[in-house]
Formats: sequence, structure tokens, C-alpha cells
Amino acid sequence: MDQFIKKHYPEARQGDEFTKEWIDRLVDRHKFDLTTTLMATSVCSDEIIRSATNFREYLSYSNPFSLGGLAGIPFSGLTGFKAFASHIPDNGSAIILYGPHIGVSENGTVGIVERVGQSRPSSCCGALKASVDGLSDKNASSADTDLDYQMSVIEQEVKASREKVVAHDVPLVAATDSMYGFINDRIHKLMDGAKESFENYRVALIGGVIINTDPEYTDWFELRNFEVL
Ligand SMILES: [Zn+2]
Repeated sequence: MDQFIKKHYPEARQGDEFTKEWIDRLVDRHKFDLTTTLMATSVCSDEIIRSATNFREYLSYSNPFSLGGLAGIPFSGLTGFKAFASHIPDNGSAIILYGPHIGVSENGTVGIVERVGQSRPSSCCGALKASVDGLSDKNASSADTDLDYQMSVIEQEVKASREKVVAHDVPLVAATDSMYGFINDRIHKLMDGAKESFENYRVALIGGVIINTDPEYTDWFELRNFEVL
């Protein structure tokens, strides 16, 4: 597990340390007032994500607005971004934390973690891993675009980066990198599309890859983008 993180995510930091450092930076350098800062996330629906960083422990409004869906894609779209903007306290600020996640188990198996209360490990990110596995399975059926809309978008994205993914020694790492790029790009497009709604507020974008591990270990976050708009 440690070797995998060191090799593929050399900049990763333990989630709680990472959170403390960036909260301090927002307060000291960017003059964020934590009593009037609202948070939004665009991270996977998977409950395992919630423990990776602990921003909510520092904020007066501890419940985040959820902009994302499976794999961390900001499926809430422009409507979600505008709604989030309209909920920011007067003269307040916002934090948007976004990115995909990847699991690694204690023994270094990638895309698999143990979960509390289960004797068998399961996949993580399940949606991304299933899409990557589907690339090499000729009998794999595509997700239903109605009943499984989010998964169908993920499959499309993974197919679009197929060459890079299959050429990588750990395909899920390449798929997670591509997914980060896709999410980061969409977050910026959506912020641009909703910029009038955010006009009176400072917004910190914190993007990166979440690395989930077995329950007895801490989770990690590798920062890929930080900016204050
Ligand atoms: Zn996931």
C-alpha cells in the first residue's frame, strides 16, 4: 500500500493533515471566515469518501452541498452550481472540493478495499473500476442511459481515454488520472457558466485524487489544483 501511494501519488498527504494545512492557508492568506464559509463537494457517492478529508469539522455550516455523483463527476450541472452559490452566507466564501477516488488495500491490491462490517473486500472506485474492466471484456454490456445514466457517462469517458488506460501498468491509475482531468475541466466550465451567481463571493477550488485504504489506515489526498476565484 505505502509503495503504491509513493510511486503513483508522490504528493499525497494524509487527509487530516492535508485538511488542517489548507484550512490554515484559507484563513491566514485568503482571509476566509470559517463561520461564513459553505462547502460543496464533487466526489463519488461512495460513503468511504467522507472520511478522506475533514473540512466539515472546521466549518460552522458543516453539511456540504453535494455537486457530484458516481466517480466524482459534477452531475448536478449548472443548476446545482447556481443553487449552491445562492446558499452561500452573506459576504461569505465557498470551498469546492472535487476529484475522483481510488482504493488500495493493505496488501497493495489496487481498486479494492475492505469496508467496516464486511468480511470480503469490494471495489473502489467501483464505477470506474467496472468501466476499466469493461474495456477488456468483449461481452460487457453498456450501462442503460436511462436507469444507469451516471454510469453510462463514466463508461463513455473511460472509452475515450482507452489507449492511455490499457497502456498503463496499472490501468485504474490512468483511468483515475483521466477522470481527474475530465472533472477538473467540467468544474471550471461550470464555474464559468455560473460566474454571475458567484460574483460576490470568494470561492476556493481544491481538486485532487482521494486515495482510500482499508478501515484501520488513514486515507490520503493528492492535491492537483488549488485556486481562489
Ligand atoms: Zn466511487
